Amino acid sequence: MKIWYDLPLVRSLFNRGDRNDWEVRSADPGYAEYLDDHPDPGRIPEQTVPVFAYAGVRHTARVDLATLVAAHRSASSGAGRFRAQAFDYATLPALLGKQPADGALNAGARPGEGAGAAPASAAPYDRIICCEGWRARFNPYFAYLPHGGMKGDVLLVRTTAPPLERMFKHRIFLVPQSDGTYWVGATSDNRFADDAPSPANYQFLSDRLEELLTVPYTIIGHRAAVRPTVRDRRLLLGSHPSWPELLIFNGLGTKGASLAPLASRWLADYLLAGAPLPAEVDIQRFAP
Ligand SMILES: Cc1cc2nc3c(=O)[nH]c(=O)nc-3n(C[C@H](O)[C@H](O)[C@H](O)COP(=O)(O)OP(=O)(O)OC[C@H]3O[C@@H](n4cnc5c(N)ncnc54)[C@H](O)[C@@H]3O)c2cc1C
Repeated sequence: MKIWYDLPLVRSLFNRGDRNDWEVRSADPGYAEYLDDHPDPGRIPEQTVPVFAYAGVRHTARVDLATLVAAHRSASSGAGRFRAQAFDYATLPALLGKQPADGALNAGARPGEGAGAAPASAAPYDRIICCEGWRARFNPYFAYLPHGGMKGDVLLVRTTAPPLERMFKHRIFLVPQSDGTYWVGATSDNRFADDAPSPANYQFLSDRLEELLTVPYTIIGHRAAVRPTVRDRRLLLGSHPSWPELLIFNGLGTKGASLAPLASRWLADYLLAGAPLPAEVDIQRFAP
């Protein structure tokens, strides 16, 4: 099973201004190792419209998250540590050995207020960590946090041309998949009614694709999901202000794949070693 694909990233520079901005950035010693002013664009010029110039980013990779998540699920299910079912928030107090609190199902309410807690020995679980992505807004215990949400649609595309063998960022991204198709996207909508693929975003992406590719292609799929953004663009980690056994792991936003390992380490150290969470990601920064 392969999960990690080293893949160079090439991006379009559309004009002299873009190139100046790029050169200023690549002269910064902190970026020099990562930014490449003269990347090898491979087959990109043969298969896409001409551009003013190309720039590159080094040390880039694609992580096949679908395969990674499926493998974890399968290993955890086999070990009896994973169950796929909707979580009913009404069951939460009992799972932590608490009494349901009056008003706890209203946004901003503090569970435990005005209701005595049951003895700890009655609790089937020591801790519950909520990690529902953008649906955290429906979690009555954490609805007081400033959850945002940014929907993104992508197209799956097959071409008849030889593979590009690099990720390409033009006005949209082309990301080669292991089966020879491309992931093309993505859109960003702050206002959305659901997480279903939207016809308007399909049209937007297919128009961009038509402007970009000079080889025949077929759109073979269309998907959408919502990025769990937060208004201050920081993670949401930590304990509920009234019930320390109830935690949240959220706010991964547009960078969940990159941030999740570090965020997990912070939360594990907090839970297992009592280490403080960095203040900028701790939900204590928000009053309930
Ligand atoms: C188009 C697009 C492109 C992206 N590109 C990148 C990228 O290039 N790099 C990057 O790092 N990140 C990227 N992201 C962001 C990344 O996908 C997210 O940050 C990440 O998925 C968030 O992980 P999460 O586990 O918090 O939420 P999710 O992945 O949304 O998972 C939450 C899970 O909780 C489940 N759930 C919710 N409520 C309940 C309930 N009541 N009971 C049971 N289950 C429930 C949901 O079904 C879901 O399975 C992208 C996102 C999108 C949409």
